[in-house]
Amino acid sequence: MSPTKRGQRAGKEDRWHRPARRGEQVNYPADQMDGPVWCTDPKHGKSPMVCTVRHGKGKRWLARWVDHDRQERTKSFDKSADAQRHIDAMTTAMNTGTYADPQRSAVTFGVVAEAWLAAKRANRAPKTVAGYRGLLDVVVLPKWKDERLRDIDHERLQTWVTWLATDPAARQQPKRLKDAKDAEHAMDAKDAKDAEWTGLSPARVIHAYQVVRQVLAYAIRAKYLAVNPTDSIELPRKAQGKDLALTHNQVRQLANESGDMGPMVRFLAYTGLRFGECIALRVSDVDTVRRRILVSKSITHVQRRGHLEGDTKTHQRRAVPILTTALAAELVELVTDRDPTEYLFLGADGGAMTLGRFRWQFDKAVAKLGLTGVTPHTLRHTAGSLALSEGASVVTVQKLLGHVNATTTMNVYSHKLPDDFDKLSAAMDRATSTES
Ligand SMILES: [Zn+2]
Repeated sequence: MSPTKRGQRAGKEDRWHRPARRGEQVNYPADQMDGPVWCTDPKHGKSPMVCTVRHGKGKRWLARWVDHDRQERTKSFDKSADAQRHIDAMTTAMNTGTYADPQRSAVTFGVVAEAWLAAKRANRAPKTVAGYRGLLDVVVLPKWKDERLRDIDHERLQTWVTWLATDPAARQQPKRLKDAKDAEHAMDAKDAKDAEWTGLSPARVIHAYQVVRQVLAYAIRAKYLAVNPTDSIELPRKAQGKDLALTHNQVRQLANESGDMGPMVRFLAYTGLRFGECIALRVSDVDTVRRRILVSKSITHVQRRGHLEGDTKTHQRRAVPILTTALAAELVELVTDRDPTEYLFLGADGGAMTLGRFRWQFDKAVAKLGLTGVTPHTLRHTAGSLALSEGASVVTVQKLLGHVNATTTMNVYSHKLPDDFDKLSAAMDRATSTES
């Protein structure tokens, strides 16, 4: 059978039998005559059928369907019902766009991952793409690069995710790129927050999982794959990090010990900006009159490529309040008589501040104060926590931190959110006692 292009046609074929042709002489097997014979096996069906040369050999039923490239495809089955089910499934898949060609699903994960990343490059911030690149090279591709898509199933993915989260060996994968460390920062500073995990940090495992999931979703859109095996994978729980918010007093001490990084420490703790957003600020982004900071950019440093400046993580612009009068006063001093286009916090040679330069002093101050697990990200977490403990609503903190939705805020600060039940009970008591 030549794989010629045909119209949309599907059906099943009995390979063991055919109908008798008009006027054809068909014999019974007992007659022992040459020529076509009737099938006399009662299990093959009731209506009279002529045996083909394949009769009784191989699988009886051939399912035919035509794929989206209008190529005819076939598959054999023992049972008629199975053949029909397969045809129905293929037809449905074709109509709903979930059909994957068996040949195309033999393509490797690595090939599709590169295509996916190339597509991302067109519409994602450079730092996001750098983060994906790092995760692919360091965590994902060493495992899946040469695997055929059709061999990547739910069970193997679950095993891998569990391994990443629990096995110390997961942390010792060859760091082939020097960029790996930067890529970590690019994804999110909180990745590096906890070094005490047995495997990778939950956040990093989840990021790696999300990259695999996105690559496979891309494979589905590109018709390489029919279903996404990453559905319903059990992920590690993110650390709550409840010990990692500082008190006002700790912020003050940390800033005092941080030398010329002190103002930035105070700034981060009382605006809640992401580090990358903070170092991208220009003098003109500080509105000392309205006490607002305009956040619209973010900078990531990637080794060998230098600073990458792009949109904020969530592609939003937001105006955040300068939370204390002391900080407002400090900022007035910081921006007075300066070129509005300059970076607010200057690094070397008038460029932007870098994470390395900041941490050089910050980490020393953290160590001196005997704080553990405190990173620049802790300052952001501190801003949210202090705001909540002063009675700010979840929505206010969401806007402050630039979370896309309040769900993120609630997940991060769930342990900080007091329930109102006591207040509610008191109110109910008042209402019921006055009512009569
Ligand atoms: Zn038969």
